Amino acid sequence: MSGHTTTVAGVAVDTRHWIGGRRIASARTFTDVSPIDGAALGEMARGTPVEAAAAVAAAKEAFPGWAATPRTERARILRAIADGVDKRAEELSLVETTDNGALLRSHRRGVMPRVAHNFRFFADRLLHLEHEDFETRGHTHHVSWDPAGPCVLITPWNAPLLLATWKVAPALAAGDTVVLKPAEWTPLTASLLADITAEAGLPPGVLNVVQGHGAEIGDALTGHPDVRRISFTGSVRTGRQVAVSAAAHLTPLSLELGGKSPLLVFADADLGLAAELAVEQYDNAGQVCLAATRILVEETVAEEFTRRLTEKAARLRQGDPRDATTDIGPTIHPRQLARIDGFVRRALATGARAAVGGHRHGDRYYAPTLLTDVAQDSEIVQEEVFGPVLTLQTFADEPEAVRLANDTRFGLAATLATGDPERARRVTAQLVAGTVWVNCFYVRDLRAPFGGSRHSGIGREGGTWSFDFYCDLKTTVTAPKGWQDHG
Ligand code: NAD
Repeated sequence: MSGHTTTVAGVAVDTRHWIGGRRIASARTFTDVSPIDGAALGEMARGTPVEAAAAVAAAKEAFPGWAATPRTERARILRAIADGVDKRAEELSLVETTDNGALLRSHRRGVMPRVAHNFRFFADRLLHLEHEDFETRGHTHHVSWDPAGPCVLITPWNAPLLLATWKVAPALAAGDTVVLKPAEWTPLTASLLADITAEAGLPPGVLNVVQGHGAEIGDALTGHPDVRRISFTGSVRTGRQVAVSAAAHLTPLSLELGGKSPLLVFADADLGLAAELAVEQYDNAGQVCLAATRILVEETVAEEFTRRLTEKAARLRQGDPRDATTDIGPTIHPRQLARIDGFVRRALATGARAAVGGHRHGDRYYAPTLLTDVAQDSEIVQEEVFGPVLTLQTFADEPEAVRLANDTRFGLAATLATGDPERARRVTAQLVAGTVWVNCFYVRDLRAPFGGSRHSGIGREGGTWSFDFYCDLKTTVTAPKGWQDHG
């Protein structure tokens, strides 16, 4: 570390905010720590409401110019950002893994290509964003997507750059300007993104990055009168605070919150595939909002399914996420590890049985865990743990499966394992979930809407739905020449 730069995994990262095209320091800093070994990675600028307001002011000032920039030019710059991400993909992967502990090979193979794709996808989409004009009594109706203004985008630590760019790319494509607030546990790749956008020619102030603690600067951002959109991904508790703050100026908001999604395994399923789908839920040490952490299995196959799942879980290798043979990396923070352990201890104390795991390994790792003998109304079945902890319950028939699946305050996703397409259609129609996967998991296409129901969120982003959110939709009705009727 030296001055305002820190070197992480051999990559130089600026530790300051990025506001109006300039690096700005704060009087105070916070220490960013690696979940892999607890090493200090850098002293990051600790934003205050003053820097938050400066970032919104910069976004406001840059807005008219960016909104008036032709779509083709906006798309060109977005593609240049994607090229910059590709060029620095290895550096981004190394820094992200060091900062959040997710597998290096996932960042290399899956995540960083998807980050670049976020920009290319919305660049292409922007150029094809048209609604057909239509006529009423000779009057032409034209629908346009007008840029809305400065947006505040707040993101969590479990997939930092992926989730940030999933919001930044459509907002910039829409002609909006952005203040991005990354999670304080994973601030680094957002700083690198600022460099990449500057190199790609994004004008100053169009993207701003404010570092710091959400509790200290959240309200200054989400309650600011000049902010026109807020997109937040994080916990239900914080989402509620954001909604209250946004209400002051009726700022439209999109909330992508927590989940407690079910995996329904029917007796007609390929049990090998079902066990594979179940074990995938331990990916990223269970720190995935979409994870199907409640396994519901049909009684007649429960024993066989559990045997297959426990065998697979026992083979998972936990360790350094940079090691090619590791399946599961560390938990983000010792505080999160203690929280996970608390959930499991309380479940075990109230009658649950650990078929797999049920304990921590030191201060950084939680063993992949499968809890059986859990009651539907218990904390472990109803609350999001956000760790590698699955519960297993059985059902007698399809109606009971649907009842248990929907008996939650969440509605983010659901996964079905069944060999019967008719059953899949029937059950899917009854599930409350933003995404349902049938015999697969985590397959995402940016053309599809994404989001959750109930406490899992408000609104949908993705494809044209992103533009609907980040734009002010306008209808222009034009009378034919010489038209006299004002009725
Ligand atoms: P969190 O709510 O603690 O923090 C998320 C972000 O909000 C961070 O950047 C934080 O600094 C900021 N923040 C904190 N207080 C704030 C405030 N008062 N005002 C404004 N911003 C504030 O969540 P987390 O622990 O970082 O992330 C885990 C949660 O995120 C889980 O519940 C998970 O399910 C959810 N998540 C949801 C999705 C989805 O797409 N639905 C995706 C990933 C994670």
